[in-house]
Amino acid sequence: MRLKNVPGSREAIADSDLVIHEPEKVKGSWREIFGNDKPIHIEIGMGKGKFIHEMARLHPEINYIGIEKYSSVLLRALQKMEAEPLDNLLFIRMDAENIAEVFAEDEVDRIYLNFSDPWPKDRHAKRRLPSKEYLARYNQFLKKDGVLEFKTDNRGLFDFALEELEPAGWKAKQVTFDLHKDEEMMQGNVMTEYEVKFSSMGNSICKYIIYR
Ligand code: SAM
Repeated sequence: MRLKNVPGSREAIADSDLVIHEPEKVKGSWREIFGNDKPIHIEIGMGKGKFIHEMARLHPEINYIGIEKYSSVLLRALQKMEAEPLDNLLFIRMDAENIAEVFAEDEVDRIYLNFSDPWPKDRHAKRRLPSKEYLARYNQFLKKDGVLEFKTDNRGLFDFALEELEPAGWKAKQVTFDLHKDEEMMQGNVMTEYEVKFSSMGNSICKYIIYR
C-alpha cells in the first residue's frame, strides 16, 4: 500500500509522541516505554492500522506496536488514535529489513503479518516478509514460545511462505486455506483493511500460525 504522498505526513509523524523515533535506541527497553510488563505483540506492514487499532482496543492486557514503511500510510493510523486514543498502542515508521536492531532477544511475544506485499519476481523473494531471511530476523527477538500469525489472499505467496518454514527451522501449528470458513481459526479474528476488501470480492483468505 503506497498512498500518494500526503503533504505534511512526515512532519506529523516527526511531531507525534505515538511514534517511537530512532527505535534502535530503545532496543531492550520496550516495556519501560509502555510503563508496564504486559506482553508485546507487533504487526509488520500494518498499513492504515485498522487491525492493530482494533486488537489494541479488544486486548488492553497486551501492548501493541504497529510498524509501517510509509509516512503517508502511518498517518492514517495516527488519525485513528486521535479519534480513539488507546494507551497500549505505539508505532514505528521504518523498513522492517532492520527490525532485528529494534527488539532484543525475547522482547516480543507475537508477530502479525497481514497481506504482506507479494514481491512476485523471484529475485525479490528475500523482500517478502514471510521469507526465510525475514524468519531468521524474527528468530532473534521473538520469545522462544512465541508465535507468528500470517494472513493473505495471495495463494502463491502463502505456498511460498509454507515452503520457507522448514529451511528456516519453523513449524506450522495451524494452517487454513479458507479462514472465513474455519470456525476454530476464525475465533477472535479481526479483519484487516485488505481482508475486508478481498474477502468481499470472494477471495479465500489463507492463514498460518507458526512457531519454532
Ligand atoms: N496489513 C495491512 C492490511 O492487511 O490491510 C496492509 C497490507 S498492505 C498490502 C502492506 C503494507 O506493508 C503496506 O502499507 C506497506 O507499505 C507495508 N510494508 C511492506 N513492506 C514493508 C517493510 N519492509 N517494512 C515496513 N512496512 C512494509
